[in-house]
Amino acid sequence: MRGTFEITATDPGSAARTGRIATAHGIIETPTFAPVASQGTVKALLHDQVERLGAQVLLVNAYHLFLRPGPDVIEEAGGLHAFMSWPKPLLSDSGGFQIYSLSPLVKVSNEGVRFSSHLDGTKIFLRPEDIVDVQKKLGTDIMMTLDYFLPFPSTQEKMKEAVRITSDWARRSKKWFDQAPSRQLLWGISQGSIFWDLRRQSIEDLLEADFDGYALGGLGIGEPKTELLAILEKADALLPRSKPRYLMGMGYAEDVIQAVARGVDFFDCVLPTRNARNGTLFTSRGRIVLKHQKYARDFRPVDAGCDCTTCRNFSRAYLRHLHERDEISASVLNTIHNLNFYLDIFKKIRQSIQSNSFPEFRDRMLHRIEEEE
Ligand SMILES: [Zn+2]
Repeated sequence: MRGTFEITATDPGSAARTGRIATAHGIIETPTFAPVASQGTVKALLHDQVERLGAQVLLVNAYHLFLRPGPDVIEEAGGLHAFMSWPKPLLSDSGGFQIYSLSPLVKVSNEGVRFSSHLDGTKIFLRPEDIVDVQKKLGTDIMMTLDYFLPFPSTQEKMKEAVRITSDWARRSKKWFDQAPSRQLLWGISQGSIFWDLRRQSIEDLLEADFDGYALGGLGIGEPKTELLAILEKADALLPRSKPRYLMGMGYAEDVIQAVARGVDFFDCVLPTRNARNGTLFTSRGRIVLKHQKYARDFRPVDAGCDCTTCRNFSRAYLRHLHERDEISASVLNTIHNLNFYLDIFKKIRQSIQSNSFPEFRDRMLHRIEEEE
């Protein structure tokens, strides 16, 4: 049985909705945030900690897992869920973004992408069909198509070519995927940056191929915020309401709220976890940068309104001490807080849509005064 998406509540004043994505490993309540677990682990945390914080789905990376330990090892282990011992849903990114941003000597042709491994320089050639096969071996619940990603800003001419190739690869991926029955889902990724004509073309091509979900790729990488929001709004009008939408890699809380209001259901971002390891904590009143001297004698919790283990037990001064000493526990405690903060926002977003109070929640989020605590 293929997964389905069911809308459970809608906000009458915007495109925000709550929904349920059914996967082979359980339900994902949307709007949702997928913590990043590129290598099959959320850095610094154990899976049961991640689960207790309320994560419903993790994002793994097909590119990283393809390079090491390799899809055959994972298949032999019984698939990625068994290999990493995570029973809940997994989404695998195709790795397009990583190929183009990490690998030297990338060369894209109609057939596929040739690149050198960023680890040891080994030359690799991958076709979109190969990326489907890698993700089939991983056994992830939601697989993503290989796309052709360009940095911002890129010329309209180059982007047009990227969209043409992305659409062609998406069609081939879908055809390849459809050859064997599967409980896995395949979502297509659109490109086109903020050129609406190109983005529209890209989305229309994906719609024709009929994917289980639709992602907006190549956004949140430096384009003006107003243009990004305009693209989200137009994409909302074009995409079917009956399929989940995924805005890839975007994660500032203010942007998330704006995107949810424009009908986006699925998010991922390295911000909460990466910043935690760098000693930056998100709070309802602004950010805390632990290295600052002013926290040396600050014995308050990170966020008085937060009920996570870190805030219930430890002070800013202690967390600063651990961070400054490079203690492993600093990464653990900081990640617990930041992930809790993020997952809690999504819980509140879902609750506000369901209780008809999304506009008030959105206003509160957008107008809260953010300054360093
Ligand atoms: Zn906390």
